[in-house]
Amino acid sequence: MAKHTIVLIPGDGIGPEVTRAARRVLEAAGLSVEWVELPAGASALEQGCENVLPQRTLAAITAHKVALKGPVTTPVGKGFKSVNVQLRQKLNLYAAVRPVRNLPGIKTRYEGVDMVIVRENTEGLYSGIENEVVPGVVTSLKVASRMACTRIARYAFRYATRRHRKIITVFHKANIMKLSDGLFLECARKIQEEEYPNIEYQELIIDAGCMRLVQDPAKFDVLLMENLYGDLVSDLCAGLVGGLGVVPGSNIGDDAAVFEAVHGSAPDIAGKGIANPLAVIMSGVMMLNHIHEEALAEKIKHAYDAVLAEGKKLTRDLGGSASTDEFADAVIDKIK
Ligand code: NAD
Repeated sequence: MAKHTIVLIPGDGIGPEVTRAARRVLEAAGLSVEWVELPAGASALEQGCENVLPQRTLAAITAHKVALKGPVTTPVGKGFKSVNVQLRQKLNLYAAVRPVRNLPGIKTRYEGVDMVIVRENTEGLYSGIENEVVPGVVTSLKVASRMACTRIARYAFRYATRRHRKIITVFHKANIMKLSDGLFLECARKIQEEEYPNIEYQELIIDAGCMRLVQDPAKFDVLLMENLYGDLVSDLCAGLVGGLGVVPGSNIGDDAAVFEAVHGSAPDIAGKGIANPLAVIMSGVMMLNHIHEEALAEKIKHAYDAVLAEGKKLTRDLGGSASTDEFADAVIDKIK
């Protein structure tokens, strides 16, 4: 097996705990890898770096093209611009892909959930263009470009085709944001009509879409949406299948890809050794598929599915009492 060079960003809060666990699992499966461990987030400042997204971290991802990342903390209402937003914009990681499915042994209100959220990752309200027009009046600009809307639509339809998915649903609010969400819809419709008539296409106004999601999530297949909607709907969907501890993700661009869980740095449980590392392990599995290590990916997937199905070594968010490391050890035992 060729040796891979992968950038590892432990991040903040529970990040170092869950990425360490994921790294152990990936190595136990036999991944031949040289990790290039680099900081980002508040922890980068604590380590004396010049800013929250050091140039050498960006340069390493650009050079090696693949990173596994822990969550980073972003101050609310003040402070530095989100590291995640900077990373996605600077490296042009335009597609966030988040598979959401029921897991063996994890009882939820729903069965048969198996969908993928494809979120536009570079513009919308995340463009960070905010102004104080006059004292007491501020604006945040929602940006939509034909280029980015077309790019994410084409990505979603190509993904759906390759993964043998059947139907793409776009969530939007084009009844109110007629220009920005209107453009998003126009581009999605055009790509479907001209390039991917094989995939069924539907549109739902996002408020009604959210109701339909909690009524019967098993009806959905691939969901496509702009940046903010994708952020909100990802956490909503995580709640349908067991919470943030079980939903992985990837940020894909043409030149690089960063794999990370949907969850944040969970300051409420950081340092306690109780965070669920599964979402980062699953993100690692997505990364293995991306670097064409499909056999290793399958091995790890079978191992964590078996641990979940047995139900003896679950972390607290899933109703168990295992620690982060105990869960990772149980997965490693199944791999052996
Ligand atoms: P969060 O996802 O960190 O936590 C929400 C809740 O889910 C908390 O109760 C937390 O304990 C729980 N949780 C999250 N991950 C878990 C896991 N692996 N195992 C068990 N429980 C888990 O969201 P938040 O509290 O709103 O945000 C905290 C910080 O994370 C903020 O600074 C936010 O900006 C940042 N954030 C970062 C990312 C990222 O780096 N990709 C994503 C989302 C939020």
